[in-house]
Amino acid sequence: MSRILIIEDEVAIAHLEKDYLELSGFKVEMEHTGDEGLKRALNEEFNLVVLDLMLPGMDGFEVCKKIRENKDIPVIMVSAKKDDIDKIHGLGLGADDYMTKPFSPSELVARVKAHLARYERLVNTNQKNNDMIEIRGIRIDKTARRVYIDGEEKNFTTKEFDLLTFLAENPNHVYTKEELFREIWDMDSVGDIATVTVHIKKIREKIEGKTSKPQYIETIWGVGYRFKV
Ligand code: CA
Repeated sequence: MSRILIIEDEVAIAHLEKDYLELSGFKVEMEHTGDEGLKRALNEEFNLVVLDLMLPGMDGFEVCKKIRENKDIPVIMVSAKKDDIDKIHGLGLGADDYMTKPFSPSELVARVKAHLARYERLVNTNQKNNDMIEIRGIRIDKTARRVYIDGEEKNFTTKEFDLLTFLAENPNHVYTKEELFREIWDMDSVGDIATVTVHIKKIREKIEGKTSKPQYIETIWGVGYRFKV
C-alpha cells in the first residue's frame, strides 16, 4: 500500500486531503510544520509527499529542496497563490506537480494516482537497466565487473567489488561490519569482521579523493558504514 505524507499547516485542509486519499486506499500521515514534515520525509519510507508552500518555520520551497537532495519520490506542491507556481518553476526545485488552492479533493487523488503510477514505471525501468550504477563520479558496470572513478578505470578485487557494489546499491543504509561480512563473504570463509575494515580501507583508497574525509563510504562510529548519496 502506498504511503503518503501530507505537510500542511491548515489542519482542516490536511484532514480533508487525508480522508479522500484514505478512501482511495492510501495510507496517509500528516505533519503540520515544515521541520517536522521534512524530518519524517527523510527518515521514513513514503511513496509521495503533498507539500504546502506556506508553512510555519521552514517553508515548502526549502522542504522540497531538501527532500530532493535525498529522495526521488514524487512531490506535489500546494499553494494558495497562483504567483507561487512561477516561483516553483523558476527555482527548479524539482517538484513533480503543483496545485493551487482551493482544489477539489478528487483532483488531488487523481494527480496522486498519476504520479505514483509514473514513478512506479520509472523505478521498474531503472530496475531492468540496473547493470550500471552511477553515483556522482563513480560508475559501476555490474555485468563487466568494472569500476570507473571520474571516467578512469580502477582495479578491484572480487570482494572489494562485491562490497562496493552492495553498499552503492543500498545507499544511505547503515550496515554493521557483521552484516557486511555475512552479505559478502560465505559463512565458512576464513576471516572475521576485521576483514571488512581492511576492504573498506582499500576501497576508499581507490574511490575517495581524501581517505581521511570520505565522500562516499561514511563511517558511522560505533555502528558501521553507509554509502552516502
Ligand atoms: Ca499553509
